[in-house]
Amino acid sequence: MKRPVRQAHTVPGDTIAAVFAGAPGPRPAGALSPLCRALYTAQTRSWPALARTAAELAGVRLRDLSSDGWSLKVQYNPARLKSGAARVDPASIAARPCFLCPAALPPEQRGILYREDCLILCNPAPIFPGHFTIANLAHEPQAIEARLEAFLDLARDLGDGMTLFYNGPACGASAPDHLHFQAAPAGAIPIEKDLAGRFDARPALGSDGVDRWGLVSWGRTLILVRGRERTPLADATRRLIARGGNGPGSPDEPMLNLLAGYRRGEWRLCLFPRRRHRPAAYDRPDSERLLVSPGAVDMGGLVVAPREREFTRLNAPLLRDIYREVSAAAPPWADLFTRD
Ligand SMILES: [Zn+2]
Repeated sequence: MKRPVRQAHTVPGDTIAAVFAGAPGPRPAGALSPLCRALYTAQTRSWPALARTAAELAGVRLRDLSSDGWSLKVQYNPARLKSGAARVDPASIAARPCFLCPAALPPEQRGILYREDCLILCNPAPIFPGHFTIANLAHEPQAIEARLEAFLDLARDLGDGMTLFYNGPACGASAPDHLHFQAAPAGAIPIEKDLAGRFDARPALGSDGVDRWGLVSWGRTLILVRGRERTPLADATRRLIARGGNGPGSPDEPMLNLLAGYRRGEWRLCLFPRRRHRPAAYDRPDSERLLVSPGAVDMGGLVVAPREREFTRLNAPLLRDIYREVSAAAPPWADLFTRD
């Protein structure tokens, strides 16, 4: 895929709280994490809107729905209503100002200028204490294929204390018109802990330096990939993503969510291939409506319920049905499912 021409961009000087400079590679893994933590602490003091949502998050209600050895939680988080109910059709997107363009950020918002490529921002409606949105400096569409190497670099720079994730433009991104990733504290997304032992138990890397396999967990199709070398890992992941596509020549990115952590000197990726953005119950009449809009975090076992109704109604079987409904079926990846 040819990368779109990047538009000129400017970041107002007083928006930049810190700069992470340099070419990818030479800095130690994890060098970016302290800057992120400092930004979150500073912004919860200087930005009243974030101070409020962060305080609410400290008292957030959780229900544990763990089943069959998989960690599943529901979080009641009313601050997420705007995001979970966001209209992401092209007409609605065109009609609203972009909330990730650096020149249009709220006056209190500050960010870390990362490698002159993107701005790391505190998400104003956090799901975790320390929830970041990494916004591309230029306003260009959400798409992962041309940015996989940058995504891996960022995961390495965040290191073992944080997890990076990506929501495809048609499955969870509330700004499909502006390229962005998100980051969370390591382990905050429940499936990370469920998968850690499985990653640790894998055999040594194969001849191409990449290990990939698949499994189904509580209705979710998962493709897991690990590797120590960036280029073969990115190439292998690109090929895996293409498998979930709509056929040769389709302009649309295959629907997916992606989690990435850099642990024990290797990248560990969890790909959720998708076939639907929201379950059919999302569009039912109000009395039957289920306002659940799964992105990477929800697929990873932390389901965000912006209304009390979903918070109390969701249970493990219903959640499994939702996961099955929005996940891609396994056959295109059948050969990956033979070893686990
Ligand atoms: Zn924008």
